[in-house]
Parts: sequence; structure tokens; C-alpha cells
Amino acid sequence: MNAPQSPPQNAPQHAPLTGHQSADGVLLVGGVKITQLAQRIGSTPFYAYSRDLLRARVAQLRASLPAGISLHYAMKANPMPALVQFMAGLVDGIDVASAGELQVALDAGVPVHEISFAGPGKRDIELCQAVAAGVLVNVESPRELPVLAALQDELGLPARVAVRVNPDFELKGSGMKMSGGPKQFGVDAEAVPDLLHTVGTLGLAFEGFHLYAGSQNLKAESICEAQLRSYELALRLAAHAPAPVSFLNLGGGFGVPYFPGEQPLALEPIGQNLAALQERAARELPRARLVIELGRYFVAEAGIYVARVTDRKVSRGQVFLVVDGGLHHHLAASGNFGQVVRKNYPVAIGSRMDAPAHVHEVASVVGPLCTPLDLLADRMSLARADVGDLVVVFQSGAYGASASPQGFLGHPGVAQALV
Ligand SMILES: *Cc1c(COP(=O)(O)O)cnc(C)c1O
Repeated sequence: MNAPQSPPQNAPQHAPLTGHQSADGVLLVGGVKITQLAQRIGSTPFYAYSRDLLRARVAQLRASLPAGISLHYAMKANPMPALVQFMAGLVDGIDVASAGELQVALDAGVPVHEISFAGPGKRDIELCQAVAAGVLVNVESPRELPVLAALQDELGLPARVAVRVNPDFELKGSGMKMSGGPKQFGVDAEAVPDLLHTVGTLGLAFEGFHLYAGSQNLKAESICEAQLRSYELALRLAAHAPAPVSFLNLGGGFGVPYFPGEQPLALEPIGQNLAALQERAARELPRARLVIELGRYFVAEAGIYVARVTDRKVSRGQVFLVVDGGLHHHLAASGNFGQVVRKNYPVAIGSRMDAPAHVHEVASVVGPLCTPLDLLADRMSLARADVGDLVVVFQSGAYGASASPQGFLGHPGVAQALV
């Protein structure tokens, strides 16, 4: 018989998870034991999001960034309506990327002047709904301009626009690059002056620029560099604009540590950088409000995914905890949402948080799907668990339920709770 393969001895650890306490050996979320939460919800698996952690994260950002920087929540990271409504009360604006998200934001009571709408391939009906609602449209293609001008006439309402620019640089060290080189996002920087001319001749209500260089970045100096270059590009383009810039979205890309060896993002240098840019903007673009838009940074660490162990199997010496959830609810934790090399998210047995080291074992957590991709933890050291125990995947508040193929294999969908 082969000995079970264990992870290497001095392998890098996950960044410490300071947000979550436990009581009587059971993990708490928003002060509630996850065993009780499972009863209240009536089923597993579920996502649970902590209001306390969401509030603390926004407060921490406000304390680290200069006053006057507007914080927008990019709701594609987690569009659960109750969470969007809660976030709307904490941040300065909501960024939507479809008419469906726009509807959620409007239903959450977000004032229309605090909503902006970005995305390639906006359909005419989506542009119509955006103008009718009075939200800011981040124009990503010359095709949108005549459509918006016609809507302005037909609806008798101003079409508020900002131009999303595809910069001539990229965000270094980004998990997902969304600028520099050929991209489907935004308008190439060199084509923006002509586009701005058309915005003026069509009489659209120009407000400013949107630049978004990338996502999931843990290097403060790369984010600072992208913000500086974005600002300077917007300043150059402003010379061609038909009206003063009142809105300048410098993007986001703030990352969170998911995998062993990753460290939390340092906010202090970003705060200093934004303070310097704000000072320049006061002179060079005096009407401009500077905006940072963040998705995962606000919500990822506030959320956990909880699934119940339905079987415990040993195959040729390796322990498999089979749970009632998997990649159909949490594609990212399975390693199939943009990762190049599969790595483990932080995982724990949430019903055995007090288990001493000598009752830990190396186990893999797998879901019920008939594919080897359905893997939530690959040979991790976990408290020895059995049928009925609850497995927790941390860092799960972003790109979870809405970014997973819930229809795949016909298992039940996942519940969500804001606690
Ligand atoms: C996806 C996206 C975001 C959010 O990205 P995070 O990594 O979740 O912060 C913000 N802005 C735009 C334009 C996006 O496409």
C-alpha cells in the first residue's frame, strides 16, 4: 500500500485569516455558528457573507485612502441583491455591467447618479434602459455613440457618457489583464480624440473617463503605477474633451490573498499615491471626482462557502471527503476560474475548529460531480472529519455563486445568506 502523499514540509502557508472566530469548536460567521446557520437556512451547501466584515473592509479602505476618493462597488463580484443593497449604504457608487445588474442596483435603491454601466457589447435595449434610468454609460465602442444620440432624442433625456479607454499600458502582475495591446474593452487610447469629437458633435452629456487596467493584483507598486499612468493619460485626453472632466474612474484591481505564500495588499502606498494624484487633479482637472472601483476586494474575505460531508472514502491510502457542494457552486475554489495552476483556497473543517494537530490528517475534499475537476481541496492537512461535518472554504465572497455553472449535472443550487 502506498503511503498517502502529504504536502511538502516547509510549504508556504495561507495568509492568516483574522476575520473569523469560532466558539465551541464551531466557526462563526456574523456571530452565528455555521451549524446553526445550516439549520436556519434548512440546507447545505450555502454561502454566508458577514455584514461586520463588509463594513470593516470599507472602513479600513476609507481610513487608508484620502478623503474625497469615491469608492465604487463593482457588483459583478457578488450580485446577491441583499448584499448589493448593504454595500450601497457603505460605498459611493455601484458599477454595473449589464441591464440585469442595473435592475438589481435600481431595486436596491441606489441613486441613479451613483450608478455607472460598463461592458463590451452593450445591446441597444441595455443602452436604452441606461439612458431611461439616467445612469452614466461608460462608452466602449464608437458604435454606441449614434445609438445613444438617437435615444437622447427619442426619450428626451440626456445620455450621460464617460469614455472607457483601453490604455497603451497594462497592469503588471495582474491576475487578469484588461488593458494594453489589443483588447475588447474600451476604446484604444489613440482613437479616443476622434471619438471625443463625435461625442461633442452628437451633443452627448460628456462627464469623463473610465480606465481599468486589470484585476486581482497584490503588488501595491504596480497598482500605483497604473493609477499614475491612467491619470496622466486621462489628463492628455481631457484636452480633446467637449466638456470639463467631472468623473475620472482610475480603476481598481486590488487583490486578496487566496493561495499559500500570498500576502495581503499594502494599502498605505496606494493611499499616498492617490493623495498625490488628488492634489494634481485639484489643479489640472479641478472639477474631477476621482473614483476607484473594486469588486473582490470589498467582498471576497467577508464570504465563506459551507458544504456538508456526505461520505468519507479511502482510495489506495488517500482520504477523500465527499461533500454536497463543489465546482458547480464554487468554480474558483476548484481552480477552474482563470487559474493557470490549481492551488488550494484556504479550507477548514468548520465543525471541528478546535481539533488539535494530532487529529489532523491529509485529506482531499471533492464534490459530487462526475469529473476529476470537482476538487475543493487537494491533499490538505485538515481536522479528521466524518459524514455530517461541515467543510468551509474561506475567501469565497467574490466570484462564487454567480460565477459558477450551477446547472452542470443537475444538482441543487446553492443558498446564500447575509448574516
Ligand atoms: C471585473 C471588473 C471589476 C471588478 O474587478 P475585481 O477584481 O473584482 O475588483 C471592476 N471594474 C471592471 C470594469 C471590471 O470589469
